[in-house]
Amino acid sequence: MDSVLIRYHEIALKKGNRRYFTELLKRNLFASVKDFGPKEIRSLPARILITFKNEPLAADLIDRISGVFGVANFSLVERVDRDLDALRSRILKALNGRSFESFRIETQRGDKTFPLASPEINRQLGAAVKEKSGARVDLDHPQFTVTVEILPGDAFYGFDKIPGAGGLPVGSSGRVVGLISGGIDSPVAAYRIMQRGCRLIFVHFHSAPYQDKTSQEKVRWLVKRLTRHQFLSRLYLVPFGEIQRQIVAGVARPLRVVLYRRMMLRIGEAIARKEKAKALVTGESLGQVASQTLDNMAVIQQAARLPILRPLVGMDKQEIIDQASRIVTFEISTIPDQDCCQLFVPAHPATKARFADVEQDETKFALAELVRYGVENAIEEEFNFPESCPRSDG
Ligand code: ATP
Ligand code: MG
Repeated sequence: MDSVLIRYHEIALKKGNRRYFTELLKRNLFASVKDFGPKEIRSLPARILITFKNEPLAADLIDRISGVFGVANFSLVERVDRDLDALRSRILKALNGRSFESFRIETQRGDKTFPLASPEINRQLGAAVKEKSGARVDLDHPQFTVTVEILPGDAFYGFDKIPGAGGLPVGSSGRVVGLISGGIDSPVAAYRIMQRGCRLIFVHFHSAPYQDKTSQEKVRWLVKRLTRHQFLSRLYLVPFGEIQRQIVAGVARPLRVVLYRRMMLRIGEAIARKEKAKALVTGESLGQVASQTLDNMAVIQQAARLPILRPLVGMDKQEIIDQASRIVTFEISTIPDQDCCQLFVPAHPATKARFADVEQDETKFALAELVRYGVENAIEEEFNFPESCPRSDG
């Protein structure tokens, strides 16, 4: 199959923005397969068709298109001459070796000058498929679907509909900063917000040289994995050990985690402003650990003015783990490492931090300077997907 036909839910797209959404979706689809040599990308009503110079491997193509948000489903299709006899013989030939009990033909006649209307094309091709396969026609619950597209210059046919990743095209909802820790939760949170159309800029806090570098390595792997869905990512690696050392020197044990988190939000917010990002994303889930009680969340979030998005807030741990497995971040997240927040963490952190106590403790620090220190000493890294892609000039 030398082409792919992508379907999206037009109703999900707001009327005035439809063109903007489809252009973004086209751009993202193109980015996802740019190393496969796409020849042409065409917009059709509620569908996008990409044709390749050479036939990419079906498995590779499926893998790439399944990662693009905004796609409802897609089919691998093949170009044929715009002629019913040609379509019939190619479809029958391609059916060799396939068995199914019921089927339907779905024709879209994008070119109304074609002499036959869609129901007539369905009828004629359906009769041929029925005769060859012995299967019955079932319009409501077919086991097998044959897609036919009649366009002005050519026609296409294909089998099966493969489910897409759903959601909205990345970029359509703006930019946000994702706080990513190397744990199980934050990569899932990042994925869910990306699926709603946001491009994420990642921020990770590490305690080197007080701890080893595995957390940074893990985060690089996680960001690399997630970049499959947004094609270009930036990661800020922020040195946090010195800030933690100061907090430890000045703050009683139970409140330390709350102060760490507030510093993370402040630095994350400073990076968000620099990146023109509109919100912060965390992997917090209500009640999961001591720092994620409602009381603590309330005190922590007051350190930032930007909205904090917590897509996992109502999810159970098992649901989060299941999704982490599906998006292939679980196996990276569970590599053992030294999490910076375990450094100097008390056995019994406060579960009901009081704002007044936290504020009082924070008077001991030059907060603005610590934020500046974190932002200025952060290392920025860029990630691309697909990786070693020769630059195209088109
Ligand atoms: P995760 O599984 O994402 O590590 P968690 O269950 O361990 O989450 P916490 O340690 O309370 O929960 O962290 C809550 C959230 O704060 C994380 O999901 C993440 O968004 C952010 N966070 C925590 N530690 C870091 C870090 N070192 N760098 C960046 N963000 C962090
Ligand atoms: Mg964690």
